[in-house]
This record gives sequence, C-alpha cells and structure tokens, in this order.
Amino acid sequence: MSERPDRGTLSDAVAAQRRARMVSGLRTLSRAPVAPSAPVAAAAGGPAGPPAAASGPAGPLAATSQDFCDICGTTIPADHRHLLALAERQIVCSCETCWGLRAGEGDWRPVGNRTLWLDDLRVPDDVWAGFQIPIGLAFFMVSTVTDCVVAMYPSPAGATESELRFDTWQRLVALNPVLEDLEPDVEGLVVNRLAEPPVHAIAPIDRCYALTGAIKASWEGISGGAGVDTAVADFFDGLRAQATV
Ligand SMILES: [Zn+2]
Ligand SMILES: [Zn+2]
Repeated sequence: MSERPDRGTLSDAVAAQRRARMVSGLRTLSRAPVAPSAPVAAAAGGPAGPPAAASGPAGPLAATSQDFCDICGTTIPADHRHLLALAERQIVCSCETCWGLRAGEGDWRPVGNRTLWLDDLRVPDDVWAGFQIPIGLAFFMVSTVTDCVVAMYPSPAGATESELRFDTWQRLVALNPVLEDLEPDVEGLVVNRLAEPPVHAIAPIDRCYALTGAIKASWEGISGGAGVDTAVADFFDGLRAQATV
C-alpha cells in the first residue's frame, strides 16, 4: 500500500458522507438530459447486465436478457466476446465466428484482455480535483479517435463523458508509470474513490462500460437506492477476482 497520510485518519462517518455525495451526484445526473454522446450511451447499453446486477428491472434493459451477436444476429451465450467499433466508440457483442473474422480488421478492435489491480496507484486529491469529475467513480481511456483522454462516469442515463486536460492526465501518468502502458481505446483505468481505501484497476473497455450498465440496471426510484451500492460493490468484487496484481 502506498502511504496516504491524507486518508489514513478518515473516519467511517467521512466515508459515509462521501458515499452520500456520490449518490446525490448521481441523482443530479438522473435528471440531466442524456449527454450528446449518443454512441457512448449506446455503448453503455451494449455490455450491460452482469448476472449479479440482474434484478429484473422493468425497463428497456429487460430486453437484453437474450444475447445476440450484434454483427450476424446469431444467439450467443451470456459470457461472450466484445468488439470495439473504433470510430463510433461503441461496444458490440460478438459471436466467436464474427470475432475471429473481424477483430483487427478495419474499424474493429478486440477489447483489451488484461485486468490489472493497481493497489499502489497514487491519485493525490489535487490531481483528482483537476479532472473535475462530480463523483468519485469513473473510468478513463485514451482515445486515438479524438486524440485526447476521456473520462466517463456512470449515471442512470448511461455514461457521461468529459474530455480531460492533457496536462492533468500527464501528472497522473508521471506519478504512475504503469499508466504509460494503458492501451489506447481498448483499455480503461477504473477508479472508485468511494471505496475506503480507494480502488483502481486497468480493465478491458467493455468491462468499464459494464460498470455504467450495472448502475443503470440497478437504479431504483429517484435516489438510486441501495441497489446502486450493491451493483458497484459487485462490479469491483468481480474485477478483483479476475485481476492479476
Ligand atoms: Zn456473429
Ligand atoms: Zn455483449
């Protein structure tokens, strides 16, 4: 563990307060119009619904209970591969055949294949503040399409996106050389500063979008409810189980 003098004395009460702030941030987002990033919102809907979060929402998400290959339409198992449509930044579900035929061809990229748990990632509060992300839960990706670093944070409406100042991102990379190896477009850095201590991981980009999908699927009522907390906890438990350190 890295030393975190600023966090070592955080009481449970403060942690609870941070969680409350996160929920209130999400509540605001739930009322906001869907961001103009239509492809991102669509992508967030693609890999939705890890089994743990499938509590049977009576919404449009219920339609995803049967999985189909987005390319050829064949039925595929719940545990299937994903491709990234690079320009649209959209995750598509793929059968094995289409994955074999399309991965790496033209605009199609195979999503990243490693999950790396980053116990010692250093994210000082002032660096985090520079990202201007309203909640403590986000993922980051380097986009070769827009030539910038993009932060996405989950909301019930899907992923909300903001472009980062490159110098702020470079400060984070300078503190954490492991991020130099973050593969553009197909991998993301997932950050959960609502956990105590905060957790960080590098994950395939479809897994990153799955976090936003899980939150959307578990959202209840106006405030999001306990289901959101459970979905976030389940997501990181699953990530950790898959991860190499
Ligand atoms: Zn197919
Ligand atoms: Zn899928």
